[in-house]
Amino acid sequence: MVSAPSGAGKTTLCRLMLEKFPELSYSVSHTTRPPRNGEVHGKDYFFIGKEAFEERIENNLWAEWARVHDNYYGTSLTFIRETLENGGSLLLDIDVQGAKQITKAFPSAVTLFIMAPDLGTLEQRLRGRGTESEETIQQRMKNAEKEIEQKGRYHYVIENDDLEISRKEISTIFEKELR
Ligand code: ADP
Ligand code: 5GP
Repeated sequence: MVSAPSGAGKTTLCRLMLEKFPELSYSVSHTTRPPRNGEVHGKDYFFIGKEAFEERIENNLWAEWARVHDNYYGTSLTFIRETLENGGSLLLDIDVQGAKQITKAFPSAVTLFIMAPDLGTLEQRLRGRGTESEETIQQRMKNAEKEIEQKGRYHYVIENDDLEISRKEISTIFEKELR
């Protein structure tokens, strides 16, 4: 499981790990937030409506779910169960609330927290990505400090300064945990 404040580089690093470790199945989350330019339904997220999401809460179809930055995000319980039953390994990109729930349900899960070197760099990256409105940037920066407070709960913490160094550090962790 990988968590990070928005803009730290989690998506970038998860993509690199999925290329390097083809044995990993990526758990494509469901979300009620609108797709960003270039995001593909079924690959980046399953984009669903609020009612459909809430119906799945009532029917206990989530391995975990949370409200993050004012939208719902959730992990499919069926996908997690089926992958694990078939002996597969999973990569989850979820927030700190979700990571807590998964750790409780699956105590053998390994957790990694990714940080930017400082809040200024985090904001620069978030702005540089060019995907968020000013309001969303403010909200994500406000949440970042609370998320970073939770980093002590994680098995590994990586400061993503130089991307190539982070890629190597995370590869080493994945190699150790997967093989
Ligand atoms: P997250 O998924 O954590 O929100 P992204 O992976 O989308 O973050 O990265 C946010 C932005 O920062 C992207 O534009 C990405 O290209 C850039 N980025 C990621 N890692 C680094 C790094 N080590 N140095 C500089 N820019 C980075
Ligand atoms: P974004 O909108 O930038 O793609 O993601 C926002 C936050 O939601 C990130 O912290 C990301 O890890 C988290 N997230 C993505 N999918 C899930 C999920 O299925 N469950 C939970 N709890 N958080 C998720």
